[in-house]
Amino acid sequence: MSYDFHYEALPMRVRFGAGSLATLADELDALGLERVLVLCSPGQDDTAEAIAAVLGDRCVGVRPDAVMHVPAEVADKAQREAVALGADGCVTVGGGSAIGLGKAIALKHGLPIVAVPTTYAGSEMTPVWGLTTDGSKETGRDPRVLPRSVVYDPELTLTLPTAMSVTSGINAMAHAAEALYAPDASPIISLMAEEGVRALAAALPTIVADSSDPEARSNAMYGAWLCGATLGATTMSLHHKLCHALGGTLNLPHAATHTVVLPYALAYNADYAPTAMAALARALPGEGAPAMRLWHLAGDLGAPRSLAELGMTEADIDRIADEVTSKSYGNPRPLTLSGIRDLLRAAWSGDEPTVLTAS
Ligand code: NAD
Repeated sequence: MSYDFHYEALPMRVRFGAGSLATLADELDALGLERVLVLCSPGQDDTAEAIAAVLGDRCVGVRPDAVMHVPAEVADKAQREAVALGADGCVTVGGGSAIGLGKAIALKHGLPIVAVPTTYAGSEMTPVWGLTTDGSKETGRDPRVLPRSVVYDPELTLTLPTAMSVTSGINAMAHAAEALYAPDASPIISLMAEEGVRALAAALPTIVADSSDPEARSNAMYGAWLCGATLGATTMSLHHKLCHALGGTLNLPHAATHTVVLPYALAYNADYAPTAMAALARALPGEGAPAMRLWHLAGDLGAPRSLAELGMTEADIDRIADEVTSKSYGNPRPLTLSGIRDLLRAAWSGDEPTVLTAS
């Protein structure tokens, strides 16, 4: 193989390990933060309040109103509160929604984020922000929104319901899968991607069997860290565009949508990305093409396997296909309207993804 790539590392400061939440104050010290606002989703206010109590005077408030896709009105309130309280940084406790709210504040006011992730979504490793106004989600990249420190404590994922653990874990694998065939792929990121998929594929079945298995929780979070880092370092293709359209236009649940779509996106690209497929085949259990291995893995783990199950109607297929093919972007296999319609139809009904192989 002859190499040809460009690579620029993003800054990354990570504390990882069971019980590492106890180092949060040290991380604030390292960043010189004295007045942090703690952000979380409504269901996680107990954890956020416990963290606030430990931080004492260094916590100026808790906002438990983070929701998916960062609605502009929620962001606006949080941005104003951060200023009113004189916050000098934010601690986000939760998944992509809590981190997304922190990113909205960082984008407007430059306040640094210390992220404490509790799902496998990976947003803590990316400089990508999102903001939804009147049902339309805008995204962008800005180095200011990349968390300055990330505390990965797998103990915080013990409460993540099994079904959400599975879909969130496959959401993480989707980042790595597309990083492997990204237009800006590079050898170091590909190593991280393959290892991230391997770690998650091995950990998820154990979590389904026993959601409180500490080693499996640690391995899944390790995989999620690696997969998140690959998302931050590369440009995503067809799979992420499909999920963005399905989530934004039809409001389908984020992680579950990624879980259903990934085998079909991989099947569509399979013949055009042989090196990526070889890496995925090394990392995933089972036999045959990675698309089939993932489809079987999702089924074995009890995850949803059709967009119909998630609430999409057949009539939505053409609309989403039009949206996904209306702009051009890097993808191994050229996008055709009929090809994307076939992909969506197969994903909608939950057919075996083999139906999409190009040849
Ligand atoms: P989420 O943050 O919305 O969390 C889903 C639900 O799980 C919430 O109700 C939350 O309270 C609950 N939860 C989270 N952790 C828990 C735990 N340990 N125990 C019990 N309940 C827990 O979901 P998500 O999938 O992590 O994030 C999705 C959002 O993140 C979407 O808006 C997506 O667009 C965004 N995202 C952004 C990026 C990026 O780089 N900008 C990357 C990935 C995801």
